[in-house]
Amino acid sequence: MMSDSIWDPLVEELASRQRADRKVELWLRDDDAVDPTPALDRLLDLTGEFAVPVTLAVIPALTDGKLVGRLDKTPHATVAIHGWAHRNHAPENQKKQELGPHRPRGVVLDDLARGLSRVTGLHGARAVPMLVPPWNRIDAGLISDLGSIGFAALSVYGPPKPASLAVVNSNVDIMDWHGTRGCRDHGLLVQAIVAQLQHAFDGGEPVGLLTHHLAHDESAWLFLERLFAVTAQAEACAWLPISTLIGRGPGKGK
Ligand SMILES: [Zn+2]
Repeated sequence: MMSDSIWDPLVEELASRQRADRKVELWLRDDDAVDPTPALDRLLDLTGEFAVPVTLAVIPALTDGKLVGRLDKTPHATVAIHGWAHRNHAPENQKKQELGPHRPRGVVLDDLARGLSRVTGLHGARAVPMLVPPWNRIDAGLISDLGSIGFAALSVYGPPKPASLAVVNSNVDIMDWHGTRGCRDHGLLVQAIVAQLQHAFDGGEPVGLLTHHLAHDESAWLFLERLFAVTAQAEACAWLPISTLIGRGPGKGK
C-alpha cells in the first residue's frame, strides 16, 4: 500500500527530517461534532488505532450529555468551542459568519462566553479553552477580548497572525468544499502537507490537518488511514495534543 508513488514526497520528507535529527509536528482538528454518530465512531476508532490525538470542535448550543458519554471512552479526544450555534449572521451576499461584525460585540462575546461555559461544564478536563470560529472567521476586533472571557487560544485556518493569546491554526483542509464536496485529490493533499512542513521547518509551527467527519466520503477516510499509516510509523513525526501547542503561549505570527 505504501508503495503508492503519490505518498513518496511525504515519505522522503520524513526520512530527510530523520537524517537531520529534526521532528515533524502535526495536529488534528475535526469540526462540527454534536452527537455520537457512526461517522464520529469511525473517526475515533481510526485515530485511536494510530494513537493520533484529536481535537473536536464542538458546537455548544447543539450538543449535550450524549457526546460526553461517548467521549468518556476515548482518552485521546479533547474538545474545543466551535462558536455558539454555528448560525450565520452575515447577509446572503457575504461569506458566512457567526462571529462577524453583524451584531453588537457584547452580544457576540456573550455567545462565546456561554459556549465556553457550556462545553466546559459538560466535558470538564476534556475541554480546552480554545475558540474555533465557525467557517474559520471572526471579526479581528473581537480577538483581543477573548482572553477576558476565558479563552486561552484561537484556531482558524491559514498562516497565524500576531495575537494576545495562543493561535494554533489548521493549514491543510482535506475536503474539496467548492468542487466535489468530497475529499481533495490525495496526491495534491500530500503535496500540500509537504509544502506546509517545509514552510514550517524554520518557524517551528506545527502543521494542522482539518477534517469534518460528518462530511467525509470514502476517499477522505482512506486518505486519513494512509496518512496515519505513513506518519505514525515514522520516528521523525509526532502527532501532538492541542494542550501541548497551547502551552507554547501567544501566537507570534510570521
Ligand atoms: Zn463548522
